Amino acid sequence: MQSSRKSIINSSVRSSIAKLLAQARDNYSAKKPERSNRCVKMAFELLKKHRTRLPTELRNSFCRKCLSVWIPGETATVSFDRKNDCLRIRCKCGHSKRL
Ligand SMILES: [Zn+2]
Repeated sequence: MQSSRKSIINSSVRSSIAKLLAQARDNYSAKKPERSNRCVKMAFELLKKHRTRLPTELRNSFCRKCLSVWIPGETATVSFDRKNDCLRIRCKCGHSKRL
């Protein structure tokens, strides 16, 4: 029953990460960026600890480098990368990622 135990853990980790990232977004819009970064940090630590694969929308919602939540137009810019024919998100810290 190892695999089903793991899937229960994974789904609860995923939902806590989703909650933490939602809190991070709320805190950022409430002008509390430090608190927002702390939420992302907690989410990232859960992710590392359990090595959970996240759904794309969660994976693309925070920066792995500076641990800030990505809000298009605020902390990140989304642009079209002609060279690679894909969308690219660029964080305020300079880190960029293909979408
Ligand atoms: Zn960043």
